[in-house]
Amino acid sequence: MHAAKTYFKNVWDSVATTLVGMRITGKYLLQKPITVQYPDERLPIPERYRGIHYLEQEKCIDCLACARACPIDCIEMDAVRHGKELEWISFTLDYQKCMFCELCVYPCPKDCIHMGTEFAFVTYDRSELKHDLLSFKGMAKEARIRMKEAEEKKKEKEAAKAAAGGAKESAPEAKLEKAADEGGDQT
Ligand code: SF4
Ligand code: SF4
Repeated sequence: MHAAKTYFKNVWDSVATTLVGMRITGKYLLQKPITVQYPDERLPIPERYRGIHYLEQEKCIDCLACARACPIDCIEMDAVRHGKELEWISFTLDYQKCMFCELCVYPCPKDCIHMGTEFAFVTYDRSELKHDLLSFKGMAKEARIRMKEAEEKKKEKEAAKAAAGGAKESAPEAKLEKAADEGGDQT
C-alpha cells in the first residue's frame, strides 16, 4: 500500500512540475522574442557610449594635445607640414592598451577626435589592434589646392617686389639723364 502511494505521488509530482515549466514556456510563447541575432541585429547603443574612436581628419591640426592627454600613450601621429597644410603619414591608436577613458577627446582644440559607437574589433593578429584612424594618407585635395594658390600668391608678391625694386634702382639714372638733357638744351 505504501509503495503504491509513493508511485502515485511521484506521478503527480512529475505532472505538476511539468505543468509549472510549461506555464513559464506558455507565458513567453506568444510574446515577441527578446533574443538579438547579433551580428545581423544589434541593440541600440547609448548616445554617450565610448566605442572605437573616429577622427575628422580634415579638421585635425596635428597639435598632439590628444596624445599628450592619454595616460597610457596609446596615440601616435606623424605628418609633414607644408606651411599651413598637412601631409598625413599616420595617426595610430593602440587598442592593446586603450582603456576607453575618453581623456583624449576633451583637450582637442578642433573637436575632431571622438569615441564612436562601434565596439567590434576582432582579430587573430594583435598587431592589427594598432589601428590607423586616418581616412586618407597624404594631403587632402582641398589642402593641395590651397597650397598651390598660396605658392602662386607668394610668387606674384615676389615678382611685384622685384619689379618695385628695379623701378627704384632705375629712378636716379632717369633723373640724371633728364638733368643732362635739360643742361644740353640750355647751351
Ligand atoms: S580613450 Fe583613454 S586610453 Fe584610450 S586613447 Fe584615449 S586617452 Fe588614451
Ligand atoms: S588634439 Fe585634436 S587637433 Fe590635436 S592632434 Fe589630436 S585630434 Fe588632432
